[in-house]
Amino acid sequence: MVNQKKLQKWVVLGTGGTIAGTAASPSDLTAYQAGQLGVAVLLDAVPGLREVLQDDPLVCEQVAQLDSKDMDPATWQALALRCAHWLAQPDVGGVVITHGTDTLEETAWWLHKVLDTTKPVVLTCAMRPATAALPDGPQNLRDALTVVREPKARGVLVVCAGHIHSARHVQKVHPFRLDAFGSGEAGPCGQVVSGQVRWQAPLDGPQVHPQAGQLLACAAADWPWVEVLHSHAGADPRKVSLLAAAGVRGLVVAGTGNGTVHQLLLAAVLQAQAQGVAVRLSTRCSEGPLVGTPAALQMTEPGLNPFKARISLMLDLMA
Ligand code: ASP
Repeated sequence: MVNQKKLQKWVVLGTGGTIAGTAASPSDLTAYQAGQLGVAVLLDAVPGLREVLQDDPLVCEQVAQLDSKDMDPATWQALALRCAHWLAQPDVGGVVITHGTDTLEETAWWLHKVLDTTKPVVLTCAMRPATAALPDGPQNLRDALTVVREPKARGVLVVCAGHIHSARHVQKVHPFRLDAFGSGEAGPCGQVVSGQVRWQAPLDGPQVHPQAGQLLACAAADWPWVEVLHSHAGADPRKVSLLAAAGVRGLVVAGTGNGTVHQLLLAAVLQAQAQGVAVRLSTRCSEGPLVGTPAALQMTEPGLNPFKARISLMLDLMA
């Protein structure tokens, strides 16, 4: 009897970004337009795609076409719903998402908190537009497809420049280097070397927020308004009262160092908190969690940067 391999379906969702960007000339690596090419075109450019897929079927879908600096709640909602749709199909093994690098870490955290699945969701990106003489997108997309098919892969992961990062730790750390992402002190959770995955750290299981369903069911325009405020020399406390008067529901304070906050800003934030604005404390430092109880404010989950903390607070406020 012939031993027939069980075929699994893989899904690639396009959202735009530099990976789908085009420039007037192959030497132009910065003056380009993100989000121009469709996801099917990006897949056509992946070297050895058939070899990676080993005859498995691939489905692709364009969920959005934007520069991820302009990412918005409606797109996040649509993306999460399309992921949930595909992941619920028994024959689908996992989802790859092509995305811009600028807010990739936020989308990764958003999906990590709202998708109730153990199947892998792998986000990938590029630092050079698709029209570059040597674009990095095709290799990154190939690596992402390799990772999503890896039996141990699970949860939301980010693949860029041969590194695999977790949604919790990943952060864009460089404005133009091809290897633009880091995972701070935690380090990447793996690497893709010559088409093989090498895991270096255990992967996070699903951590769905209890309010995820409510947020996904609610019109994106009605999601709680949460802002990030940085503490810095000369921080002006009027920004807090202006936001509170305008109806902000939550504030994430990106403190200096170990969550210290300029005294004038802290007084204004405490006043807003007393008036019902929800506040969480994170840090401007790009590495390391807050330790101890540095200020009279509730700390965010350990290790979350202010922008991921904003997403978690938005979910908390749906309660
Ligand atoms: N601005 C682009 C974006 O985030 C940058 C990139 O993808 O590298 O879509």
